[in-house]
Amino acid sequence: MTLPSTDTDVLIVGAGPVGLTLAFDLGRRGARCIVIEKKAAPEFLPKMERCNARTMEIFRRMGLAGEIRAAGLGRDVPMDVYIALAMNEPPLLRLPYPSVAEAQAQIAACHDGSMPREPYQLVSQYTLEPLLKAAVERLSSVTVRYGHEFLSLSQDADRVTATARNPDGRIDELRAQYLVGCDGGASVVRKQLGIQLRGEGNLLRLHQALYHAPALYDMIPIGDGPGKGRHYHIADAQSTFLIMQDSTKHWTLHAVVDRAEDMTAQFERTIGIPVRYELLYVGEWKQNLLLADRYGTGRVFLAGDAVHLVIPTGGLGMNTGVGDAIDLAWKLDATLRGWGGPNLLPSYEVERRQVGDRNVGASRYASVGRRKWRSQYRPNIRDATPDGQATRDTLVRVANVEQRKTNEMIGAELGYRYVGSPVIWEEPGGPEHLFREYVPTTWPGARLPHVWLDEGRSVHDAIGDGYTLLRLGRSSADTSGVERALHALHAPVDVLTIDAGAARDVYGYDLILVRPDLHVVWRGNTPPGDPAQLARVATGH
Ligand SMILES: Cc1cc2nc3c(=O)[nH]c(=O)nc-3n(C[C@H](O)[C@H](O)[C@H](O)COP(=O)(O)OP(=O)(O)OC[C@H]3O[C@@H](n4cnc5c(N)ncnc54)[C@H](O)[C@@H]3O)c2cc1C
Repeated sequence: MTLPSTDTDVLIVGAGPVGLTLAFDLGRRGARCIVIEKKAAPEFLPKMERCNARTMEIFRRMGLAGEIRAAGLGRDVPMDVYIALAMNEPPLLRLPYPSVAEAQAQIAACHDGSMPREPYQLVSQYTLEPLLKAAVERLSSVTVRYGHEFLSLSQDADRVTATARNPDGRIDELRAQYLVGCDGGASVVRKQLGIQLRGEGNLLRLHQALYHAPALYDMIPIGDGPGKGRHYHIADAQSTFLIMQDSTKHWTLHAVVDRAEDMTAQFERTIGIPVRYELLYVGEWKQNLLLADRYGTGRVFLAGDAVHLVIPTGGLGMNTGVGDAIDLAWKLDATLRGWGGPNLLPSYEVERRQVGDRNVGASRYASVGRRKWRSQYRPNIRDATPDGQATRDTLVRVANVEQRKTNEMIGAELGYRYVGSPVIWEEPGGPEHLFREYVPTTWPGARLPHVWLDEGRSVHDAIGDGYTLLRLGRSSADTSGVERALHALHAPVDVLTIDAGAARDVYGYDLILVRPDLHVVWRGNTPPGDPAQLARVATGH
């Protein structure tokens, strides 16, 4: 039986981190959304645990960064990565990484644009999802419906009609101007559109288990010091990998084992000391490196794992999806408000699919590195013999190069630049995309580097939710042409005059037009020759 229809601006399928981020960004802009999620409630299951620096910049702009940090790992907890034989033995290799507090101090002292406005935050997906759900539910423009399973869709020139099974088992019909499938790797929305995922699927099958071991954090015997860290890779034949979750009381273990029951002995072998614990969950997951052929059709878009599946090495899964969500949110809102032109929504696929492609590549690069050092494992690794020592030495030498690839992805995180986008004023050429290195740039399409205006306040913090024309270096350029041209298209624009020399030095230009998502549209030292054309390009007309 079909129940009465519901109308909304945007119907979002899936309340994972990507669907909820999209709903929040749309909702705070005033767009009406309904989110449908087939689960009855958020689940306490381990998946991602690290919001990268760019994601935290995005959450800062949404006003959520403080809440997320308060819910996540404490700011003084080290993020070191260890390679060991077991946690009760001296580590083979320790790679130190700054805690949030240390990273914040580094950022505070940095004035060359090379660091993000916000450092990473370790927060487990099972903490982040309920937090985002609560944030979304505070917005009157958004409705979140758990226990509603998307089934099918059809679309015409004016709207999308979807069906969903509600908790009573009945079928609802929902009508929306746009639909976004944020329904994860097995996306039904993507399948309904007939869009394929391509690449390398099912590369490795691992078991993952979640343990509650509240005393372990204080007892970690590894190394000379307390040995506290984030990741513990065990140099064994099972690719064993222990991850501390945000409470420091929950831990996840990944390993290639035959049976779920094996995860108990595997945990005890990894810890190596007696500790009280409870096994909360065991499941299987597969490593994939896949990208969708397209990011939507017509009025239906796809975001997050629905269009890109990466190996968690490098932490580019959810983080890439959050980038999708904020690219799409302002474009949907602008189109719904009428100032977004016909090229604006199509630019979503152009901009984000290339990032998905590069991040699948970055993840491959990191996971190949991981495989390289793991391939140095030999059964004699524990032997107190010259051969055993040689195995350990070789593994450490290779790991010291290769493991870093997973943990040092600042270029992939901050340095992505939209190339060939119809809504960016292209300059031919452009810097290379680097996974490991971030070189600040205002090349059109790039994220505007973070530069301090004064203590504790960044240029990012002074940029609002519309377009912003930055006027730097005490330029006396007349910006009224650009302002008039954007206003003529009813697009919101502010002019921000920045006298601080540091920003002009980093940005390299006197005038920079920045979009609502902080990406550069255009730059120059004199006003554009044809401001009306620039405004048309920026808004997708
Ligand atoms: C072990 C592991 C560690 C990871 N670590 C990291 C990390 O540190 N950093 C990182 O960025 N990423 C990491 N990831 C990846 C990250 O978890 C995913 O990229 C992320 O969950 C994707 O978010 P999403 O919202 O796109 O999809 P999902 O989280 O898969 O959410 C999709 C939602 O859609 C719902 N849904 C599906 N079908 C329907 C339907 N028909 N109707 C209604 N609802 C539906 C699902 O129930 C689900 O809630 C990790 C993944 C794994 C497995």
